[in-house]
Amino acid sequence: MPDRRHLLLLGGGHAHLEVLRQFGANPLPGWRVTLLTREAQSPYSGMLPGVMAGLYRPVQALVDMAALTARCGVALVLDRATGIDPARRLVRRASGEDIAWDLLSIDTGATPDMRTPGAAAHALPLKPIDALLPRLGRLADSRSLAVVGGGAAGFEVALALRWQAAVTLVTGAAGLLPGFPPRLRQRAADALARREVTLRQGEDVVEVTPGTLHFAAAPPLQAEALVWATGAAAAPWLAETGLARDARGFLRVDACLRTEGQAQIFAAGDVASFPGGLPKAGVFAVRQGPVLAANLRAVAAGEAPRPFAPQRDYLRLLSLADGSALGTRNGLVFAGRWVWWLKDRIDRRFMARYQR
Ligand SMILES: Cc1cc2nc3c(=O)[nH]c(=O)nc-3n(C[C@H](O)[C@H](O)[C@H](O)COP(=O)(O)OP(=O)(O)OC[C@H]3O[C@@H](n4cnc5c(N)ncnc54)[C@H](O)[C@@H]3O)c2cc1C
Repeated sequence: MPDRRHLLLLGGGHAHLEVLRQFGANPLPGWRVTLLTREAQSPYSGMLPGVMAGLYRPVQALVDMAALTARCGVALVLDRATGIDPARRLVRRASGEDIAWDLLSIDTGATPDMRTPGAAAHALPLKPIDALLPRLGRLADSRSLAVVGGGAAGFEVALALRWQAAVTLVTGAAGLLPGFPPRLRQRAADALARREVTLRQGEDVVEVTPGTLHFAAAPPLQAEALVWATGAAAAPWLAETGLARDARGFLRVDACLRTEGQAQIFAAGDVASFPGGLPKAGVFAVRQGPVLAANLRAVAAGEAPRPFAPQRDYLRLLSLADGSALGTRNGLVFAGRWVWWLKDRIDRRFMARYQR
């Protein structure tokens, strides 16, 4: 049999789940496909606050990558990528062995932004989620918790953890749920107050010491456990790849998800910096999945890829961790048990596509 060319999928993120599924249903003729990823169980972060609140078992929020790749006829390598050599078409691995590829697709997500002094040493980040899940038990033993980060993840996690401890949500200068409509932000603040989550807004954390958050002017805040849920940062190893990056270090892609100047390297999800900018949200990684699959197939066949057209507005749903949720779309704001029902249904349907 003539040597088949090699497509390497780097990272088991949301976009690659769909690429795997599509290549499983309709294999790429003349190509072998490998997934190189760090985690044997790929987490779906949309359900993680539900796991923390006890609404889901952890297994419901995880995709078994060995089972998925086996079903899709894709080889699986569990390892951490540490570098990419675009000229020699190699990916470097923590184990020391390189993997050669003819076509590369990167969906490795983002890392927590832990540049605040002391944060990395004394606070628990939400990612990587595989490292977080075994530590949830320790959080459950804490009587007081501070969650740092006023975005969707911090808001949902603060509410999920309030069943276990007295929780303070620290949003910093950006406030609660920046980028969301004012009416939703107000309802979210009311929801926190009704559920006895203390909201501390206005000043960024400037330093973290064991059990204490420090601010420039405001008094320090003490808690038995500190959870770090601030914005996404680019993985430092991307800097060594020589690939084009934006000011924050994410890989610049064109509208077809090709990395700038590299026709054989694609990137999608949080790791990619899309023209005009996109929020670092799983919904975009999910939406890019089918376009990425089609474009990898096209380029493998020597055809032209097609652009990804992001939606202007999208449905955003926030769990209140008690069987109700808040939502917004096109400026409308809604809340209630039916919103949780909708979120639960969307999340379960997503997972059912990739779990057996
Ligand atoms: C608690 C929480 C709740 C969230 N809720 C929502 C929500 O409700 N809606 C929403 O839109 N967004 C949500 N987000 C944001 C969402 O998680 C991310 O935007 C989304 O996961 C990005 O998907 P991705 O495909 O880019 O990468 P990821 O899902 O981060 O996956 C990256 C994968 O690559 C692997 N990987 C990483 N680095 C390497 C490496 N060097 N070598 C090999 N493998 C590697 C990882 O193990 C992982 O499997 C939430 C985030 C958190 C933390």
